[in-house]
Amino acid sequence: MPFSKALKKVNHRNFPAGGQQLSLFEHCEKGKLCPSPPREKGAIISPFKTINFAKFSSIHIGPIADVYMIDSHEYPDNAYLIGSANNLLIGPEHPPLMKLSKAFDYIKIIDNKLHIGAATPGGKVVSFCKKNNIANFEFVAHLPGTIGGMLQMNAGLKEYEIFNHLHKVHFKDGYRLLGEIEYGYRSTNIDKVAFEGIFELEQGFDHSKIEMFKQMRANQPHDPSAGSFFKNPEGDHAGRLIEAVGLKGHRVGNMAYSQKHANFMVNLGKGSFDDAIALMQLAKERVHETYGITLENEVAIIDKRFMNKTDNSGF
Ligand SMILES: Cc1cc2nc3c(=O)[nH]c(=O)nc-3n(C[C@H](O)[C@H](O)[C@H](O)COP(=O)(O)OP(=O)(O)OC[C@H]3O[C@@H](n4cnc5c(N)ncnc54)[C@H](O)[C@@H]3O)c2cc1C
Repeated sequence: MPFSKALKKVNHRNFPAGGQQLSLFEHCEKGKLCPSPPREKGAIISPFKTINFAKFSSIHIGPIADVYMIDSHEYPDNAYLIGSANNLLIGPEHPPLMKLSKAFDYIKIIDNKLHIGAATPGGKVVSFCKKNNIANFEFVAHLPGTIGGMLQMNAGLKEYEIFNHLHKVHFKDGYRLLGEIEYGYRSTNIDKVAFEGIFELEQGFDHSKIEMFKQMRANQPHDPSAGSFFKNPEGDHAGRLIEAVGLKGHRVGNMAYSQKHANFMVNLGKGSFDDAIALMQLAKERVHETYGITLENEVAIIDKRFMNKTDNSGF
C-alpha cells in the first residue's frame, strides 16, 4: 500500500491533542477484538502516531512527524522504518516514516528457541534473560534500541554481536535463516521490515558480563548522541582519525565531537540538523584529505537530500 494512500484513509489531524496513537485493534473487556478506547460514532481510528524527534531520538534532533504504526504484516512500501531512533539523524526533509507497534513487543520461548518481537526494547530482553537464566544477551544491557534496529545493523559490543546466536528472522515473505543473510561488522543486507528474531536458547545468565560491558562503556559521553557516528574503517578507529585531524571537542553551533570520545557527535543543547551535517562533512573532508580514508556513516541520515540506496531508505 503506498504511504500516500494510507494517509488519505484517515484524517489523523482530527485526533486528540498530541496525535495520541489509537491502536487499530485492542482487546476489549469481553476478549473480543474491538477499537479502544470507545469513541463517538463516526470517529476514525488513526494508524499514525505523532512523534517529536527532538525528544524521542537519542541525539535530540528532529522534527515533529506523523509516523505510520505497523500493526500487522502489511506496511506502506515507500516509508522509512524507524526503531527507537538511537542510530538516526532525522532531517526536515525526511521521507514518510513508519514504526512497528506494540504488537511486535514480546518475548516467547517456543520449541527451545527464543522468539523476540522486533519492537522489543533491549532492556526488556535483558530483564527476561536474567529472570529466566538465559545466556548470550548480557551485552544488550548497554545497547540502546529495539531488537529490529539491532538486527538491521548487527549491533554489538566488540565481538559480542546480535547475530552471534541468531537462528532466523521473520520478514513479510517468510523466514530467512542466519546463513541466508549477509552480515559483518555493524552491517547486514536486511532491506525489509524484520518482524521477529528467533534466537538459540542457552541456559546461564552471566552477571559478571553485565559489569564487564559497563566498564567497556566507561569512556562514552553522557550527552545526547546517536552512538558512534562513523564506522571504524578497516584496521583503524574513526575516533582516532577524528582526533588526529584536530576535531576532538570541535564544535559547530551546539553540536560537537565529544571531548570524551571523538567518534561521538554530541548535542550540547538544542543542536540542529544543519550543525550536525556541517560537523559530519568537516570530519569526512579532513580525514580524506589527510589520510585518503573515506569515513562511512554508522548513523543513518534520514533526509532526502542525504539518502541513497545504501541508507536502507526504502522497505
Ligand atoms: C549512547 C549510544 C551508544 C551506542 N553504542 C552502540 C554500540 O556500542 N554498538 C552498537 O552496535 N550500536 C550502538 N549504538 C547504536 C544503537 O544502539 C543501535 O544502532 C541500535 O541497534 C539502534 O536500535 P533502534 O531500535 O534505536 O533503531 P533505529 O536507530 O531506529 O534504526 C536503526 C536502523 O535500523 C533499521 N530498523 C529498525 N527497526 C527495524 C526492523 N524491525 N526491521 C528492519 N530494520 C529495522 C532502521 O530502518 C535503521 O536503518 C549506540 C547508540 C547510542 C545512543
